[in-house]
Amino acid sequence: MSETFTSVSQEEASGEASEEAGLGARARLSFDLDADVCVIGAGLAGLSVALEAARLGASVAVLEGRHVGWNASGNQLGTVMPGFALPLAELIERIGFEDARELWTLSKEGAEFVRANATEENMPGICLSEGVLEVSNVDAGDRLISRLQMLNEDFDTEVEGWQADRVRAALRTDRYFHGVHYPKAFQVDGRKYVHGLAALARRAGARIFEDTPVVSIDHSGIRKRIVTPTARLRATHIVLAGNIHLGAPLRRLSETLLPVWRYAGVTAPLGERLHEIVAFKGSVMDSDGIDHFRVVDGDRLMWESPETTWAARPQRFAGAIRRRIRSIFPELGNVGIADMFGGVTGQTVHGMPQIGQLRKGLWVASGFGRQGMNTSAMAGQLIARSILQGDERWKLFSPFELVWAGGATGRVAGQLVGIWGRASSAAAGSLARYRERVRLKDREREARLAAANRAAGSGPRRPAGPRPRPAPASEPAAPGSAEPAAHDHSVSQ
Ligand SMILES: Cc1cc2nc3c(=O)[nH]c(=O)nc-3n(C[C@H](O)[C@H](O)[C@H](O)COP(=O)(O)OP(=O)(O)OC[C@H]3O[C@@H](n4cnc5c(N)ncnc54)[C@H](O)[C@@H]3O)c2cc1C
Repeated sequence: MSETFTSVSQEEASGEASEEAGLGARARLSFDLDADVCVIGAGLAGLSVALEAARLGASVAVLEGRHVGWNASGNQLGTVMPGFALPLAELIERIGFEDARELWTLSKEGAEFVRANATEENMPGICLSEGVLEVSNVDAGDRLISRLQMLNEDFDTEVEGWQADRVRAALRTDRYFHGVHYPKAFQVDGRKYVHGLAALARRAGARIFEDTPVVSIDHSGIRKRIVTPTARLRATHIVLAGNIHLGAPLRRLSETLLPVWRYAGVTAPLGERLHEIVAFKGSVMDSDGIDHFRVVDGDRLMWESPETTWAARPQRFAGAIRRRIRSIFPELGNVGIADMFGGVTGQTVHGMPQIGQLRKGLWVASGFGRQGMNTSAMAGQLIARSILQGDERWKLFSPFELVWAGGATGRVAGQLVGIWGRASSAAAGSLARYRERVRLKDREREARLAAANRAAGSGPRRPAGPRPRPAPASEPAAPGSAEPAAHDHSVSQ
């Protein structure tokens, strides 16, 4: 890990200086270069690898076809959770309890990597704040209890169960039932984080070249060759972190990803009433992955919701976001949308990221889907530590092989599955709300009946016959006098 770079060009130097000042003039690679590690792509994944590898002493060059954070990494909400896009129960089913636990621990280390980097000192204005609430669209508290136990006890992750009334005190809507609160999950300014990461990687010695697409690679020898329109590189390791745009360097790899475009908006200022309606200050996401939002800039809502499997301008979805906000929080009425943004995520067929070595010295870090903050950080740590320290824990990802995502036909099918999944979860949500209304009406009717009986002073009319014996103290309450199911779970508050 000792080769030296050629000297820094004027263009590169000025690019670095202006990037740090946030002005954005870009350094293109215009001279041939040798490095230990060449990273393709300056999104969250590529920059996390670059930062960790540079900190461990490697010479690192990052080649980015557009500019730092150009795609999803620079257009996301910045919520940092443990785990993966694949639900934990499915992960355990797929690889067994022990390996799932190890992977979960790595995912938590990824989140801690973000926390350690995202300090105000390192990234001014990053605004790290604690606490994420996952709310349920359906009334399924029985499942919640075992999940809480598993997370707390088996996966060493601090979580609290919130009953529906606590959730509704924090979020004034009847859409949500129970919640799982992750007090140690957090959020940062997602659009700033990727630039902060680039600045840290540069400080650690990595060199980042923008407007420098990689058009081909030859990964056959010990020293691998990387070709760009303006220069060539040689490196012992190549890390493919180009997400769905990787293209020519290894087209078949891009085809293992289903591209899913995600869109988010920021409302106009909503004033004090926002805090009465949305009192929870961290990120909120629903259990079906439909809505994801939080309060930003004092009194605005940042809200992510629609997704497509084709590219569209984010502005096109401002109306959809506005309608979504109105349907969850009708009291907010018709909010104005001040800004829209979005990007394309790469989803794998099995829902887990692609992390590992494809052949000696050729690495992949992609497929982070909708949960890229902690998982891309984890990929950076795993790959850099394997290259530089021989840490082989990336092999835990081996069961998640590269599966073809189906090309154009598969992508259309993906959209249909997505729509079906969302429609069925929306239907389950309506059903749960309907059941709750029925229970509420039952309770009101019983209360009216009891009041009428009390007013009559004689209790309920008893048919003629022998007087019933008083019930023993331990006898269960009669059906109908129990709390409705929405409040009927012994989760901690
Ligand atoms: C609206 C939205 C909200 C989100 N919110 C969250 C959230 O709150 N929390 C969370 O954990 N995740 C979130 N995500 C997901 C997260 O943003 C992604 O998982 C993550 O950014 C993926 O990072 P990446 O580096 O793999 O890909 P990218 O961001 O796509 O970066 C890849 C880079 O590689 C470059 N590249 C590709 N091919 C080449 C080539 N041949 N030569 C040179 N350069 C190349 C591209 O130009 C690009 O800049 C969100 C995503 C979106 C869209």
